[in-house]
Amino acid sequence: MLVENLYFCNICQKSTKDAPKTIFVQGILEGETIHICTSCIPTLVHGGGKGVLNNKELKEIVKK
Ligand SMILES: [Zn+2]
Repeated sequence: MLVENLYFCNICQKSTKDAPKTIFVQGILEGETIHICTSCIPTLVHGGGKGVLNNKELKEIVKK
């Protein structure tokens, strides 16, 4: 998820600020653009989308 020029992982909530060298992969969830960091790709592939936060859920966590 992109918020104020920072990308957040929709699984682990890590941002480009936490890890500037992390690559984020773009995807679509419920019609919205989401981003997954490379270390969460295995989770995404093997979990079949389990544990992926939608943007609304992620926003709630990130703004705290
Ligand atoms: Zn992640």
